[in-house]
Amino acid sequence: MSVLFKDVLALDGFMNSARPCDILVSDGKIEQICEPGTFSGLTDETLEGRGRLAVLPGFVNGHTHAAMSLLRGLGEEKPLMEWLREQIWPVEAKLTPEHIYWGTRLALLEMASKGVTCFGDMYFEMDQVARAATEMGMRAGLCRGLIGDDRSKLEENAALFSEWNGRDGLISIQLGPHAPYTVSPDMLKAITAMAKEIGAGVHFHFLEAEWEKQYLSDEFGMSPYEYLEETGLASAPFLILAHCVWFPLSEMTPFKDRNITLCHNVKSNLKLGSGIFPLDEAYRLGINISLGSDGAASNNQLDIWDEMKTAALLHKGVNKDPTLARASDILRMATYGGANSLGFHQTGRILEQWEADLAIVDLDQPHYVGVDPDNLCCFIVYAGSSADVKSTMVKGKWIYRDNRFCLADRDEIIRQSLRCRKELVDQSL
Ligand SMILES: [Zn+2]
Repeated sequence: MSVLFKDVLALDGFMNSARPCDILVSDGKIEQICEPGTFSGLTDETLEGRGRLAVLPGFVNGHTHAAMSLLRGLGEEKPLMEWLREQIWPVEAKLTPEHIYWGTRLALLEMASKGVTCFGDMYFEMDQVARAATEMGMRAGLCRGLIGDDRSKLEENAALFSEWNGRDGLISIQLGPHAPYTVSPDMLKAITAMAKEIGAGVHFHFLEAEWEKQYLSDEFGMSPYEYLEETGLASAPFLILAHCVWFPLSEMTPFKDRNITLCHNVKSNLKLGSGIFPLDEAYRLGINISLGSDGAASNNQLDIWDEMKTAALLHKGVNKDPTLARASDILRMATYGGANSLGFHQTGRILEQWEADLAIVDLDQPHYVGVDPDNLCCFIVYAGSSADVKSTMVKGKWIYRDNRFCLADRDEIIRQSLRCRKELVDQSL
């Protein structure tokens, strides 16, 4: 299939200003970018932008638990451990593979409609998540959440890798130890050894809450960096550390030369009162940074546009410096940074021969009056919202087109999700 985007504004997180152009997408890739109105070949489909459509890389939700869309609203406004122990873990114990399938599909409806083309997910029954992602045509980096020292779960994660890694060019599989307080250092050593053996990345929750730093010191006598080195995590083929709110700045420097991504879950951290990740310091060191929503029970949106705006505003405000967390840097984290973190290295920029994972944004709206190529990025981050996404494409295929889902039955997914929610939470409406 080939699609011509005619006279559009192309923008990614590496550009100083948007580029007016024609873009040809063919065989899943961005085949050609040329001056607006100059493409003359035949295509299956042409979108007339008339300078009022923006073409952005698809957004990447770097860290989430998609099926938690069924748990939205449970245990609101509680501290992290109380929330997990009293509200989340008891309901999660009741989850069946079918619940996870429908919960994931529900989350993917939400994400696709907001321009998200790729997500990093840690949960259970991940073959159901992989199935849901491929049916929806979405790109995903997936790992089985590993809690405790049960080696059979690690074998399950490795089997997921054998079965799904690379499927349809859409799926990458990581190993998913949950957190320092749920997995022992010995188990982490086994996990990192397995990661090196099979060539998989590792996805880990780290230092989300302040007490975790003291826990590492009291339980294991290690600083955060020593812990990552000692357990082998720091030398995994690649590592995604979700949250990292309390990682000491003095220990961050070695990260810049490692294949390590820090995933900034700004709204989840704010809502759970976890604190504020030192974004500016990490960014200055050249560490790869992605943005994530975390699960829908702690955010409560799966909306990377909203993460962008919150991050851009918050870090300016708390540092009293409007030059920090610049819109183009934030857009880069929300696209390229996330794709790169999950092992997709030709995704997240508007460049010829890169994967055609795209979000199409309607600029023909009141809040875009005054937009031009130089200020488009700031309009997107500060004036725009995910409601401006008109269409979403992954690998050159439409998954959401003119506000309709192309590969999913919206009403059926909502119906099945309501049934699952009732099975999990009796008092649900
Ligand atoms: Zn999480």
